[in-house]
Amino acid sequence: MSFPQELTKSIKIFRYFSPRTLKEAISILEELHGNAKILAGGTDLLPMMKLHRVTPQNVISLRNVVGLGHIRETNLTLKIGALRTISEMQQSDLVRERYTSLYEATKTFGTPQIRNMASIGGNICRSSPSADMVPPLITLDSRVNLVGPNGEREVLLEEFFTGPGENALNGEILKEIIVPSPPARCGMAFRKVMRASADLAKVNCAVKIVSRDRICDDVRIAIGGVADTPIRARRTEEIIRGREVNKDVINEAALAVTKEIAPITDVRSTAQYRAHITSVLVSNLTALAFHRSTQV
Ligand SMILES: Cc1cc2nc3c(=O)[nH]c(=O)nc-3n(C[C@H](O)[C@H](O)[C@H](O)COP(=O)(O)OP(=O)(O)OC[C@H]3O[C@@H](n4cnc5c(N)ncnc54)[C@H](O)[C@@H]3O)c2cc1C
Repeated sequence: MSFPQELTKSIKIFRYFSPRTLKEAISILEELHGNAKILAGGTDLLPMMKLHRVTPQNVISLRNVVGLGHIRETNLTLKIGALRTISEMQQSDLVRERYTSLYEATKTFGTPQIRNMASIGGNICRSSPSADMVPPLITLDSRVNLVGPNGEREVLLEEFFTGPGENALNGEILKEIIVPSPPARCGMAFRKVMRASADLAKVNCAVKIVSRDRICDDVRIAIGGVADTPIRARRTEEIIRGREVNKDVINEAALAVTKEIAPITDVRSTAQYRAHITSVLVSNLTALAFHRSTQV
């Protein structure tokens, strides 16, 4: 069996740092004037280095940094350490029972080997428009805690992404994700459409609805793979918010969403198919999230 030649390239030589604390990691990053790549699970960075698409001179591993692997819910807030793996998220009773869309996103994520290595922080910082953990986190109004030489700051996840592979990090490291706990009568759902299992999404989508009787009190819709960054479909949300969630409203929303996305044609799909399937996902997930909101 032969491998494509570019996959057999060797990684270019780099200096490897393995700090034990976040403070130490930040000061190494600062001393190197930001001229370093952060390494978490390596499922994204190492293939990129092998293909010579990224050739860092310095790599700072977070593997031995303490205090980045937690998950805990206190004071109506869920805090997830950046190094928490997708497998660990999937195995968490807390995530499965209370954060359904996040749990659903772990189920179709890569392969078991990838899930065992890939971190939630790496998924966010890679900043792929089709990252799977991002739409559920956006619908949950999550914030990210970034640590740099000048201290810590929090950024709304929805505002973190600035382009494909680009984000608000400025010589900083993502420390944790802060997720407000869902209120009562809240239902959520996530689905991903892909070419084959273990592939990146053509389109992924998460919906969260808070309902009262048959009425939608509040809604969030987040979609990946249909623009330069994961997006929130605000105009579509407006169609649903404050109204009775019935077939007509869902059809109206499914039609409207195609007007606020800008999908492209690439190796994974065509723009036309992405627009069509986004409409289907919004329709199905709105109905499902609403149904779930009436069951709790
Ligand atoms: C076979 C395969 C299947 C895949 N399937 C999926 C899938 O189904 N869904 C999906 O969304 N992705 C998928 N991916 C992509 C990848 O696995 C994920 O994006 C993963 O979550 C990246 O996490 P990591 O810990 O491996 O990140 P790394 O590769 O270590 O890092 C990724 C990037 O983020 C930066 N970074 C990492 N952590 C931090 C931090 N705490 N602070 C600042 N910067 C940081 C790194 O410098 C790097 O630029 C797949 C990849 C492969 C190879």
